[in-house]
Amino acid sequence: MKELQDVILEKGNVLRGNILKVDSFLNQQVDCELMYRIGEEFYEHFKDYGITKVLTVESSGIAPALFAAKLLGSKLIFARKKKSLTTDINIFKSTVYSYTKQEMKEIMVSKDFLTENDKVLLIDDFLANGQAAKAMIALCNQAGAKVCAVGIVIEKSFQKGRKLLEDMGYEVYSLARIKNLSEEAIEFIDEN
Ligand code: 5GP
Repeated sequence: MKELQDVILEKGNVLRGNILKVDSFLNQQVDCELMYRIGEEFYEHFKDYGITKVLTVESSGIAPALFAAKLLGSKLIFARKKKSLTTDINIFKSTVYSYTKQEMKEIMVSKDFLTENDKVLLIDDFLANGQAAKAMIALCNQAGAKVCAVGIVIEKSFQKGRKLLEDMGYEVYSLARIKNLSEEAIEFIDEN
C-alpha cells in the first residue's frame, strides 16, 4: 500500500532493537483517514472469505481492525491483556511473548464471543516474530473457530513471523513489508 509506505517513511522513527515507532499515526495518535483506507485494503482482499469475526489484540490492533471489521460486516473482538473486575472465568486464554515489552503476557477472550461457527480474520498492527498471531490462533483453536488468514499493517519481513505462520498453513497478507530497517533508511519489499 503505497500511501502507507509513504507515511512510514515520513513519520516513522527507527529505535534500537529493530523497533519502528509509529505513534504519530497508529500506536498512540491515530490517523483515522489512513485507518479507514487500511480497512478498505483489508476489505478488498478478504471480502470473499466469509469472515464472521475479526480478532486482534488490545490496544494497537484495534484501530486498523475496526474499519476492516465494519466493511466486512463482521464483529471486531479484541483479546484483552489485563484481567478486570468484569472479566469472568468463562474465557479462552493464551500466552504471548511481547516483542516490544520483552515479557510474557496472557491474552484472553470471552467464550461468549468466539465459537466453532466463526471464520476468523486475525489483524495486527505489526508482524515481527509472529508470537501475537500465534497466541490469537491458540485462542481460536480453543474455541474451535476457523482461522482464515492473518492481515498485518506493517510486516518486518526480516524477522521470522511470516515464515512461522506460513509454515503453520496460514495466509499472511501485509500492507507494508519492510525488508530493511536502519536509522539511515527504511526499505520495502515492492510487490507490484
Ligand atoms: P510479534 O508477536 O510478531 O513478535 O510482534 C508483534 C507485536 O509486537 C505487535 O502486536 C506489536 O504491537 C509489537 N511490535 C513488534 N514489532 C514492533 C515494532 O517495530 N514497532 C511497534 N510499534 N510494535 C511492534
